[in-house]
Amino acid sequence: MLDQAVTADPSQLVELDAGQPGAERGADSDGNRSLLFGLDGEALAALMVEAGQPAWRGKQLSEAIYSQRSTDLSEITTLPKPLRQKLLYDGWEVGRPRIVQIFKSVDGTERYLVQCGAAAETVETVWMPQGDDGEAGDGSDAGGQGDGGRGAPEKNWSRATICVSSQVGCAVNCQFCLTAKLGLQRNLSAGEIAGQVVAVLARQGVEVGRDRVNLVFMGMGEPFLNYDSFMGAVRLLVREVGLSPQRMTVSTSGIVPGIERFAEEPVELRPKLAISLNAPNDQVRTEIMPINRKWNIEAVMEAVRRVKLRPRERITFEYVLLSGVTDLPAHAREVARLVRKNGLPAKVNLIAWNPGPGIAYSMPQPGAVEAFRLTLAGEGIPTYLRRPRGRDIYAACGQLKRTVEG
Ligand code: SAH
Ligand code: SF4
Repeated sequence: MLDQAVTADPSQLVELDAGQPGAERGADSDGNRSLLFGLDGEALAALMVEAGQPAWRGKQLSEAIYSQRSTDLSEITTLPKPLRQKLLYDGWEVGRPRIVQIFKSVDGTERYLVQCGAAAETVETVWMPQGDDGEAGDGSDAGGQGDGGRGAPEKNWSRATICVSSQVGCAVNCQFCLTAKLGLQRNLSAGEIAGQVVAVLARQGVEVGRDRVNLVFMGMGEPFLNYDSFMGAVRLLVREVGLSPQRMTVSTSGIVPGIERFAEEPVELRPKLAISLNAPNDQVRTEIMPINRKWNIEAVMEAVRRVKLRPRERITFEYVLLSGVTDLPAHAREVARLVRKNGLPAKVNLIAWNPGPGIAYSMPQPGAVEAFRLTLAGEGIPTYLRRPRGRDIYAACGQLKRTVEG
């Protein structure tokens, strides 16, 4: 493969001859280059062996890309210069997705447009300092407040959440969600999913293993309709970047075959699971989430029961409150019955619907939200209200649609 790449593109020779391999190459502008970012430790080791190097050079490369967050091959000085030059000559570049636009909310939330490789379109990623209380809900493993001697005074956050996209757009067509309006444009690769995270870690100067950062796969797209790339990203983030899967939550609209595969994942690689329930019964759910015709509430619950939970782990049910549609007191009692009947350790995350242009629902009244929360809690269901973050920049749940008008 390496040799093929050498002969394939003579223009690369010119760049090399210029004496500054990769230095000012607009790497991503060249769709012919091969991307290192996205390859796991094994693949990087194999690449090194193929280049006539010892396999442990793969580890150095992984360290450089995923821990040191190098984005330029020519700067990876742990590798001998001739090797770096050979890799460039052979058509390789780091190729990590890049943040190309930033929207800042008054509440500290940042929404990023992230560009992957040579692709023209961008994906959306959100940084929420202090989280939105939806990562763990009960605070048990979201990290809670307080600095805990973390010792990074320049940071004005003690924990944070990164919301990651898994697809450009989404095919699922939930009636209340702005992302649905895009339809599915394309799947993201594992590197493109993990790359959003590493780009944000780099921007925010996050120290992995020290800072309390949670990931939620709740951005654009349905992760379980892009399963292999999603889990590939999780493997990269756990094994190469060093993040814990217990600080990751994946949300699905209820793609049963995906949940069944997820149930088979080894616990050391499995994020926590959130299900977008969003309705008290099949009738309402089908109305707002047409996917419910294919996999109804009972089918989803049955698949969820296959997931072997860790001690103290709970399944999260997300519930979007739509005024007059899902936010009535009777609905709350129905949800409580549903969750109890299911018999799993569970909690409910309530999300007041975030508005979007062209969507004909209304935000719930604050009184209705509070009454709903109290009813569920009164029925003994652990219930948390997600704080809306970054609504002013279209960064809140369900608002991601590459809106530039913010
Ligand atoms: N596709 C996955 C993950 C992304 S959506 C899923 O649906 O689970 C993440 C969460 O945002 C889901 O729980 C979804 O129900 C919720 N959501 C979508 N649109 C919303 C909106 N306009 N306001 C509030 N929550 C919304
Ligand atoms: Fe897709 Fe999730 Fe939006 Fe439904 S709520 S359309 S599954 S992103």
